[in-house]
Amino acid sequence: MLAAPVSRKIQRSIGDFPAVLQVGPETALRKYPMNPASCPLDRLLADIRGCVLCADTLPLGPRPVLRATVTARILIAGQAPGTRVHDTGIPFNDRSGDRLRQWLGIGPEVFYDQGRIAILPMGFCYPGVLPGGGDRPPEPRCAATWRAPLLAALPQLRLTLLVGSYAQAYHLGRRRAPTLTETVRRFADYLPAAFPLPHPSWRNTGWLKRNPWFEDDALPVLRARVSALL
Ligand code: SF4
Repeated sequence: MLAAPVSRKIQRSIGDFPAVLQVGPETALRKYPMNPASCPLDRLLADIRGCVLCADTLPLGPRPVLRATVTARILIAGQAPGTRVHDTGIPFNDRSGDRLRQWLGIGPEVFYDQGRIAILPMGFCYPGVLPGGGDRPPEPRCAATWRAPLLAALPQLRLTLLVGSYAQAYHLGRRRAPTLTETVRRFADYLPAAFPLPHPSWRNTGWLKRNPWFEDDALPVLRARVSALL
């Protein structure tokens, strides 16, 4: 399906949803101040599920896929939905999710328990593929608009799993090492609040083979930290 043109649908939405769509992230932060008590999570999630900010660039149109409740103690910060996740509306409902759950040492019933685990990718909608293959990066407008108010509305978070370089760039900023491999290798530097991971895509099987320390040294620490918070 081709990208939907900027349409009357957006114009209608602007009427309902003026701050974010018309003037961008600064106004979004004013709409959702950094005070969880004044920013109910359910209202924020409802606004995100109606967001059409990137409708002009998303190949399958907006369909935000995210999960969160105020009691969540672990945040999985991923990249962006693939086509299967877009189709089902269920995050990590694919082989990447199977591998991530194996890394965490938990099954689907715990992974999808929103009371304990929030799942907020860096882009909530499927961004499409690059001309040469591979997924396009998450829409930058998504994190710029929604991430700060969302994080402020999740006061119980104790651990953020930074899945891939986009999540690491946003959440670690200048604390990130020059490469993803080096950032993940330094996982202990970011504990107890964060744990950087490679993307669990099957495209990264070669990376896992080249870096056996990840399974031998990092995953046992990750599983212990996750288990302590569940
Ligand atoms: S990617 Fe994010 S900002 Fe863009 S339409 Fe989807 S929810 Fe809105």
